[in-house]
Amino acid sequence: MKSLPRIPSTMKALLAYGGYDYRYMDIAVPQINEDEILIKVEDCGICAGDTKAYHGAEVYWGNGKDVKPFMDGSVVAGHEFIGTVAAIGDNAARKWGLELGDRAIAEQIVPCGECKFCKEGNWWMCQHQHIHGHQKIVAEGGMAQYMKYTVQDLVHKVPKSIPARNAALIEPLACAVHTVERAGIHFKDVVVVAGMGPIGLCDLQLAKLKNPKLLIAVDAKDSRLEAARQLGADVCLNPLKCNAADEVRKLSDGYGCDVYINVTGHPSGCVQGLDMIRKLGTFVEFGVFGSDTTVNWSVIGDRKEIDIHGAHIGGQHGYEVAISMLAKGMIQADKIVTHEIPLSDWKRAFDLAYSGEQSIKVVLNPDL
Ligand SMILES: [Zn+2]
Ligand SMILES: [Zn+2]
Repeated sequence: MKSLPRIPSTMKALLAYGGYDYRYMDIAVPQINEDEILIKVEDCGICAGDTKAYHGAEVYWGNGKDVKPFMDGSVVAGHEFIGTVAAIGDNAARKWGLELGDRAIAEQIVPCGECKFCKEGNWWMCQHQHIHGHQKIVAEGGMAQYMKYTVQDLVHKVPKSIPARNAALIEPLACAVHTVERAGIHFKDVVVVAGMGPIGLCDLQLAKLKNPKLLIAVDAKDSRLEAARQLGADVCLNPLKCNAADEVRKLSDGYGCDVYINVTGHPSGCVQGLDMIRKLGTFVEFGVFGSDTTVNWSVIGDRKEIDIHGAHIGGQHGYEVAISMLAKGMIQADKIVTHEIPLSDWKRAFDLAYSGEQSIKVVLNPDL
């Protein structure tokens, strides 16, 4: 075991107890064994999911009936963390090639290693879905001064050339890498990315790297479309101000887009996508919805024979690709990470992230 000097015994952390009940408090710094790593957190992003959980969404806390809680009360929140090694067990150091002071990230999912999906190498679909910041003890989060990566974590070394606040974007970017890979974009394609939140803006930049014929951004906020324009969108459409599906058809010889990537998390994003996609097109769904969507399924089969691909978290290679792209400067994280706020000021930060009017990605820094 190696450890930096003067690691405190207690730390500040943001704990999720339930909807509208998050507490910034002192708790013990995690203890580690020879298979584990103690991480000094540099930054932790606030995900749309974090703000939904704070606002009591039943997908996180259950409804006492058919929806079971996904989150444990009193868990340390946050899955978009980045930090440096403050202490490390010998086995973990050997396994991951890490030393004290190195920067390292763990994937958001803590795979069980034993279920059918883990054994077949599809660990991001692990039957247990333990995600950092959601399950107490097995998957505590990064909204704290320290956190630990256990023997089950998938750890990646991260170059320090990436500013810490941008490195906090690795998790959303990994999700975007997986999503865009699922789209199978070709040079001849007209591609629509709907929903210009942090992940949508990552999807947009990644789709641009595939060099499609035309890249179209759709969002109901003009400020987000402006960011999309700066990040490479050829055309920006606000569906509140135009008939976006008609515009897309005009831009594609009347056929509709070849690829539609939905990151809106809003039911209208599905209806709109099925309308503007061409026959035999590819529809990729990443959004997490607060309510059900009603569409006519005959569009999918009988009328258009669409390929629909789901995408969940970072897939198999999301993290390694995201880290390498940020390190090479291929992704402009600066335009997405708009605010870095002290962890102690978490309430203001959550409000800022939730409204999304003045911010895109807000990250929390426990040292500010
Ligand atoms: Zn997230
Ligand atoms: Zn598993």
